[in-house]
Amino acid sequence: MEVRDLHKSFGDNEVLKGIDFHVNQGEVVCVIGPSGSGKSTLLRCVNRLEEPTSGIIRVEGVDITDPETDLDAVRTRIGMVFQQFNLFPHLNVLQNLTLAQRRAKKRGKAEAEQTAMKNLAKVGLADRAKAFPAQLSGGQQQRVAIARALSMDPDMMLFDEPTSALDPELVGDVLEVMRQLAEEGMTMMVVTHEMGFAREVGDRVVFMDGGVVVEQGNPADVLGSPQHERTRSFLSKVL
Ligand code: ADP
Ligand code: MG
Repeated sequence: MEVRDLHKSFGDNEVLKGIDFHVNQGEVVCVIGPSGSGKSTLLRCVNRLEEPTSGIIRVEGVDITDPETDLDAVRTRIGMVFQQFNLFPHLNVLQNLTLAQRRAKKRGKAEAEQTAMKNLAKVGLADRAKAFPAQLSGGQQQRVAIARALSMDPDMMLFDEPTSALDPELVGDVLEVMRQLAEEGMTMMVVTHEMGFAREVGDRVVFMDGGVVVEQGNPADVLGSPQHERTRSFLSKVL
């Protein structure tokens, strides 16, 4: 995935001010930065939940900012997991996992359920297929949301602060699922405040502030010896 000179404004407010960015196949890129720096907007542009004002986003060489692009196809290839899990409350876990498969991937019931169960097992929740979201802990709901995204067989996964809404004791299980995905070679872009995860699982850390990428590099370098004052100042508050 490659982003070139991406700009995004909301009215007069320019939120992304020329972002250049890439994620290689199989790479885990962690995006860090203060609140309001444009991290979520960047992710939302990448799977076209937001329309970029200008710039190019290529996924496997195909420009997804082209008006001709099939957005449903883009979103099946790029899975997204949000801070708020966004499960359908009136559907059970299995139904949450099969709905999009049946609609967007045109899978039959049996195939969709088989794929769902495989991914529920992967996140350690095969025994909760018939539960409703409200019957699950926040950590379990987030693992269901991850399994739902995986059930579309995405080429890449985007995570927007997936553990920020969770009680501290529930964070570890979700990070463990993400670590396992990374080990399996999934291409991932993760907005997170979990610096331990960024350091241990990330192949690269990108620090954003004020709608620009201030610095990026391998996690040990960016987190351990940041080159820019803005990065140092941010890290001194979160580490
Ligand atoms: P971050 O995820 O780094 O906290 P965001 O991308 O959510 O930052 O927000 C960056 C800026 O964009 C903020 O000033 C926010 O108010 C603004 N913004 C985000 N989404 C919208 C929107 N839909 N309409 C107007 N302003 C928005
Ligand atoms: Mg955000």
